[in-house]
Amino acid sequence: MRAAVLETHGEPLEIEDVPEPEPAPDQAIVETEACGICRSDWHAWQGDWSWVGASVPEGQILGHEPAGIVSAVGENVETLQEGDRVAVPFHLGDGTCSHCREGRANNCETVVPLGLSGAAPGAFAEAFPVREADFNCVKLPDSVEFTEMAGLGCRFMTAYHALADRAELRPGDWVAVHGCGGVGLSAIHIADALGAHPIAVDVRDDKLERARELGASAAVNSTEVEHPARAVRSLADGGADVSIDALGIAETCRNSVASLGTRGTHVQVGLTTGEEEGEIELPVDAITMKELDVHGSHGMPLVRYQELFKLIGEGTLDPSKIIGETLSLEDVPNTLASMDDYETVGIPVITEF
Ligand SMILES: [Zn+2]
Ligand SMILES: [Zn+2]
Repeated sequence: MRAAVLETHGEPLEIEDVPEPEPAPDQAIVETEACGICRSDWHAWQGDWSWVGASVPEGQILGHEPAGIVSAVGENVETLQEGDRVAVPFHLGDGTCSHCREGRANNCETVVPLGLSGAAPGAFAEAFPVREADFNCVKLPDSVEFTEMAGLGCRFMTAYHALADRAELRPGDWVAVHGCGGVGLSAIHIADALGAHPIAVDVRDDKLERARELGASAAVNSTEVEHPARAVRSLADGGADVSIDALGIAETCRNSVASLGTRGTHVQVGLTTGEEEGEIELPVDAITMKELDVHGSHGMPLVRYQELFKLIGEGTLDPSKIIGETLSLEDVPNTLASMDDYETVGIPVITEF
């Protein structure tokens, strides 16, 4: 089968013929129908994350935002069968640790990130294996298209968990979203749909335009104002109730914290780059005196998918709105390279393998 393989960090991915995966006893094989291309793929390709012991090995098949059809199951798999339509979250849990038993595979003690670890070849391929398949595969409602589900394996669900669970967003809240890539645009749409007032912050007007289409009440081009956080505070009645760093560089993280009003909540969603190596200075005295909350947010507990499907089913949320262009597997190397300059708008999704 064909796959896009990271042979050398920083060099274009190579489209190769690789062996078809066979299911181990606990695994399902999923034929990929759609897979988003995410900034985490770009980080992996750059060789980032050595500072958290998570550098992605050369030889890796990337791809962690898939939806597809189960084509084979191992002998121990009980709840899935050939032909099932599934989404696969990027955090593959073991299904047995205390967090997994609460449905929180995103916090699993032995988590294996799909497409970002040698133990889990990814979905930039015609098919891919899923460990502990009964636990990790999420069956799709019939009404949901594969393409719109692609973001539900990573960015859309990440944004939902960050806002609904970690920030406990309430209707009427002002929400600053720093960085309007896939997760940022998802956050704009979700915040608007949940009755909050999102303010989009980015360096590119095309992304801010998309954010306005998705429901942003206001947009700040951070290259055109001296103090982006001050601009947000004046738009948000003195300060945002919730602010998200949806990128993960020092500037967006600090701007996010500085956008908050008293007792506001910062949620860190983006992982950092080789510039920061996981360390960013924050204004601790302001955090103390304004009683700010600082939260991390990673993926989404599997138990939250049912609520997400309900909101999609009733039309409150529409993940298809975040989809950018649809691509073929051959386009992956160039699309990844274009992310150096933040050129992609919305979530690019591979639909031809
Ligand atoms: Zn991702
Ligand atoms: Zn676990």
